[in-house]
Amino acid sequence: MSEYEAVIGLEVHVHLSTASKLFCSCPNSFGDEPNTNVCEVCAGMPGVLPVLNHKAVEYATRMALAIHATINQRSQFARKNYFYPDMPKDYQISQYELPLCEHGWLDITVNGGKRRIGITRIHMEDDAGKNIHPQGESHSLVDLNRAGTPLIEIVSEPDMRSAEEAVAYLKKLHSMVVSLGISNGNMEEGCFRCDANVSIRPRGESQLGTRTELKNLNSFKHVQKAIEYEIARQSDVLDDGGKVVQETRLYDAGRNLTLPMRSKEDAQDYRYFPDPDLLPVVITDEELQEWIATQPELPESRMQRYTADMKLPEQDAEQLCEDPFLAEFFERAAHLGGKPKKVANIMLGMMMREINQSGISPSEMRITPEAVSELADIIDNGTISAKIAADIFPELMKGEEMPLSYVKAHGLAQVSDSGAIDAAVQKIIAANPEEVRAYQGGKTKLISFFVGQVMREMRGKANPAMVNESIRKLLG
Ligand code: ADP
Ligand code: MG
Ligand code: ZN
Repeated sequence: MSEYEAVIGLEVHVHLSTASKLFCSCPNSFGDEPNTNVCEVCAGMPGVLPVLNHKAVEYATRMALAIHATINQRSQFARKNYFYPDMPKDYQISQYELPLCEHGWLDITVNGGKRRIGITRIHMEDDAGKNIHPQGESHSLVDLNRAGTPLIEIVSEPDMRSAEEAVAYLKKLHSMVVSLGISNGNMEEGCFRCDANVSIRPRGESQLGTRTELKNLNSFKHVQKAIEYEIARQSDVLDDGGKVVQETRLYDAGRNLTLPMRSKEDAQDYRYFPDPDLLPVVITDEELQEWIATQPELPESRMQRYTADMKLPEQDAEQLCEDPFLAEFFERAAHLGGKPKKVANIMLGMMMREINQSGISPSEMRITPEAVSELADIIDNGTISAKIAADIFPELMKGEEMPLSYVKAHGLAQVSDSGAIDAAVQKIIAANPEEVRAYQGGKTKLISFFVGQVMREMRGKANPAMVNESIRKLLG
């Protein structure tokens, strides 16, 4: 086993959520009847002329601003020529020599360490349609609804050194595009897709090794697993005295491995050339100023506010900011009066558990910020214990009841009546003479045993601090 360093660069395709497609007025929407959102332009009929959707330029520029990039206020569309049934024009309209944006970066934090990842470029392009292969049939079908919809491709420098860093970078990009409102970021629908370029080299070596390009990575987990697999596979190849072959490989999630798809030898020559049907893309100074002035808040500055103003620990802030919906939810709950740290505890503990178990996305939750704010309050003021809160949380997730009225209706309010607590403690003391002797003989760790027993006796509703106090008092 030699010591290798992994080198990773990502190419990320983000579907822009404009109302219409990039070069025609067809709706840019998913899930419709096949071939219903199609016109002569996106069907690639001869003689038609594309007209650029300027909203897509705005969205792409907003992303460019977010990564501190150089914006080319004059950029150019090019034709990328290849043949495939899902692409009736026989070329993709993309940007090549003069992209919209170059030389950006973003910072990621992995295991407490900050790293700056370079972004080579962002360019605009149109998407292809979709081939459908009906099971058991000898033919394929083509759906052109997606053909001509707007994408940006974000190409990173080969700056990442592990699968964790690649996933952190991707998550950051994802939270940025969703916060900017330029994409829904849905990975399953292919609205946020990524190809990972992976190579390894002996540690200390400055030259890059031969890379492979991994496709078909449609979740953060697949990105992580595929890169890990690929690093291990390439290490084995080199350890066995072999050479890594530059090729495109497909990730098979079922078997958790990557398989060769095509090698560089059959790489296509795309014969790029400037699209003669399209004028250069021009962004005026006024437009740029307006977009800068109206740029939505990004996760980074949100995090800053959460840690500096609301005093959240960095890790909590980071987790909340990964999902703009959660961040929004958190802010509303805190704004309504819930103490920020208490609200964060509920959201990152009980709420995340429910979200993960049910598989719903945060935006589908029925529970309201009002309910979470109230729950934070009634835990904080001792009306219920954290344990009871966790017990009733699944019910509250249904969004039908407010915490306080639910607690009252079910008699779950915490008992802070010292008489009742003392009585329960007396009862437990009487029932456990041996533990009492051991405790009084110096085994003070047994306090937690007594607390547990008393809590059970009082069906989890006793005020834990008061139980502790009562036991200490009565055991002497
Ligand atoms: P192509 O257009 O053929 O995919 P590029 O040179 O544009 O090639 O690179 C695409 C991506 O691959 C970029 O994100 C880049 O950082 C990354 N990359 C290039 N060389 C390597 C390498 N040796 N190891 C890992 N990633 C690499
Ligand atoms: Mg590539
Ligand atoms: Zn169209």
